[in-house]
Amino acid sequence: MFRAQLDALGLICPVCRLQGRGEQPIRLGVTLRAEGDDIIEGALVCDEPACRREHPIIDGIAVVVANLGGWAQHQLDAVLRREDLSPWMTSLLGDAAGPGTVLDNERRNLSTYATAHWASDEAAGGFPALLRAAFALAPPRGGLCLDLGASVGRGTFALAAAGATAAIGIDLSFAMLKVGERARRTGRVTYEQRQLGIVYEGREHAAPDPARVGFVCADVLNLPVKTGAASYAIDINVVDCIAEPLVHLAEVARVLASGSAAIVATPYDWQPNATPLGNWLGGHSQRGALAGSPEATVRALLAGGAADAHLGLALAAERERVPWRLYVNARSTMEYAVHVMHLQRS
Ligand SMILES: [Zn+2]
Repeated sequence: MFRAQLDALGLICPVCRLQGRGEQPIRLGVTLRAEGDDIIEGALVCDEPACRREHPIIDGIAVVVANLGGWAQHQLDAVLRREDLSPWMTSLLGDAAGPGTVLDNERRNLSTYATAHWASDEAAGGFPALLRAAFALAPPRGGLCLDLGASVGRGTFALAAAGATAAIGIDLSFAMLKVGERARRTGRVTYEQRQLGIVYEGREHAAPDPARVGFVCADVLNLPVKTGAASYAIDINVVDCIAEPLVHLAEVARVLASGSAAIVATPYDWQPNATPLGNWLGGHSQRGALAGSPEATVRALLAGGAADAHLGLALAAERERVPWRLYVNARSTMEYAVHVMHLQRS
């Protein structure tokens, strides 16, 4: 990540915030490998005496999480995954590991999201079409633009192309961010696309202009971003993939500057292993006044009617069913209908 992006972001320490020490800035304290002003390996440090935490920059991606140990339990495989093996050897190892393993799950997820982001025809309703629907509701502005749940990074590049002074993609999955970061540094989007079973084929596309793009590995429930720092945010297909959607929406509101816009889009595809039932927005209690409707639940929430406290986000415009096609394999595609909302920060 470039120093200029780090400066524009003004990252804060998520440990201090979690432990009640407020918003403590973190600064580049260690540089181990750099290409000019582009920091590839190093560490951001928190100067608060009670903390002194080091937040690593690995392969150009700043990892700024409150619980680095917990993060490592799930992400270290992706961090240490080597990328210099031939397709032949990768195929052999993929067969040896077999289906349903950590390696296979990572390959499947990367195939699905990299294809949706980088390979799909816009007319077929892939991620670019979803982005277009989002930007039509509220176009990005200059300043710091955040891509929350950035996945493999297409939206982050789109924010930069639309005029962001700094376009920062934030996601907890290091494996996903590596695709976007590799595109930023090499100019090529490369990934494996699942054909069937555990058969994968390499894919490669030219990446868009990487200027002003950067990636941070962080938890969208505890964003390492200063209050009011962002002038625009997209939050596409995140809300139904996390444990606490309301905590996340409060974080979106917190990091946005007053009067700025966020696009929140979700197909409400609730899964109990991602989101406990009690935290679902709709999708249950069909006997109630809102009949289990997620759209009605979210509208009531934004109006302040169903929440303990008002989020500070008002629903300015929406589209209820934007199609989004997600690649499974060469013979299968999933299609969602996504609720796309333009939320305005008060
Ligand atoms: Zn700290």
